[in-house]
This record gives sequence, C-alpha cells and structure tokens, in this order.
Amino acid sequence: MIGMEYNKEVFALTDSVTILGTRGSVPVSGSKYAKYGGATSSYLVRLDGETVVLDGGTGLLNLPDFLLSAPSLNLLLSHPHADHLHGLGVFPFRGTLSIYAKTRGGLSPEEQLLRYYSPPLWPVSPKAVYRELEERFTLGSIAVETAEGVHPGGVSLIKLSGGGKTVVYASDTTLTGASSLASFAADCDLLLCDGQFCRAEWSEKRGWGHSAWEDAAEAARAAGARKLRIIHHSPTRTDSELDAFSRKLQSSGFDWAFAREGEEVEL
Ligand SMILES: [Zn+2]
Ligand SMILES: [Zn+2]
Repeated sequence: MIGMEYNKEVFALTDSVTILGTRGSVPVSGSKYAKYGGATSSYLVRLDGETVVLDGGTGLLNLPDFLLSAPSLNLLLSHPHADHLHGLGVFPFRGTLSIYAKTRGGLSPEEQLLRYYSPPLWPVSPKAVYRELEERFTLGSIAVETAEGVHPGGVSLIKLSGGGKTVVYASDTTLTGASSLASFAADCDLLLCDGQFCRAEWSEKRGWGHSAWEDAAEAARAAGARKLRIIHHSPTRTDSELDAFSRKLQSSGFDWAFAREGEEVEL
C-alpha cells in the first residue's frame, strides 16, 4: 500500500486518524493478512489543521505522497522498540523531521535511534531533529499530554487534543485492573488501544507488555471513549481470527473495531 492515495483537499478539512500500520512486533505479509494489514505501528493524525505521526513502524511508508514534500513533520515515538522504528530507515521525507521521544534507559532520544540506526546494524541514520517527549507541550494548536504505560523498558501513552477533539494512543501497554487509562482517556473521541492478545491466551502472555482485546474494550467502556480501534495485532493473528474476534465485540451503540491498515477513522 506504499504511497496511500489521498484527496489532499478533503484531507486538509477532516479531523481523522489514518491507520498506516497496526501489526505488532514484526511486519508480516501474505494473503492471510490482506484485510488488517502487515505493516507495523504508525498512525497519521489530522487534528484542527495540524498533522502528527505516531510511531515510525513500516506503516510510515504508507504516508500519503503529498506529505513527503511538506516542509516539516512531527513524529511522536511511544517507545524505541524496533517494530515502532522500522520505517525510519528508509523514510523518503525531504523536509525537517522532528522526532519526539522520552529519554529511556539513560539514553536520549537521539542515542536510542542511533543505537539501532548505525553501523554495523544499518548503514545510515535518520535525518531528524530529536526532541524530548515531555509530559505536556503543544504542537501548533494541538495539546500533547503523555503518561507512562506498562511495558518492558517503558512506553509513553499519548493524548492529542485540538479543535474540541481528543485522540488517545495506548500501544504496547498492559491494562491493569483499575486502569489509569480510564482517567487518561476519559471521554476521548478515539482510543487506539493495544489488544495484541486475547483472554484465552493471557496466562502465557502475561508480562509481555501487551493487553487482551477484551480488556481494551473494557477500558474503552470505562473511559467513555466515543470510538475504539484495537491495535498492535499479534504477528500470527490472521484475518479470519480477527474477523471472529470482531463478531464477539459487543455492538452496544459504540464504534468499536479492530484497526485495519488503510482505514481512515473520522473524529
Ligand atoms: Zn510494539
Ligand atoms: Zn514494545
């Protein structure tokens, strides 16, 4: 799906989130994954006339062509695991790319990226301006708020608010019983929530830093989220399995679904 087609005029007017890639852990390909997609985590947020990208997995290569020639682009990194960085090594962006990440493990944002993108692992490093992902700051008219999730090595939960709309990105996190996500995501228009696993396999996946999709649905209900997209699908999860899970999602007046690569979710 490289170079996703987009109507530039409509794009400029629409508050939306486009699922550029939502596969967890590693990219996959093949007919079993055609519907929900195989590219790893990357999301394009359009809010109050501003554009922000969340994470730089291989889905980053699905960014609309016209954005590649924008003078600047802001990319917020939830955490530096490889599936959230894979797209940056070959990202053909020509303007000023600002990457916001939280200092982790004593490494600055730039040190984290260069650990992955430097010889002998990779021949070139991304051309970017590196900035600290603070707890609260603004990007144009968007207010950014972050909180810490539950994941090996840490992860930032990210809330973007602008023009009266709010999007919450909660990837790579384990939802705990009395989840703090409910207050962080309270009354949001769209919650993107980790649901890599299901409750039936939870006993063997506990401690991996992800959540069961049933718990993501509960979290959305507790938060009063208007829409939910369950993200970060397990690399072995086929389209037919995700379709079967979808049929179990309660249809109780909410717009809840498993995220599908290429979907544009209007806010
Ligand atoms: Zn991940
Ligand atoms: Zn991770």
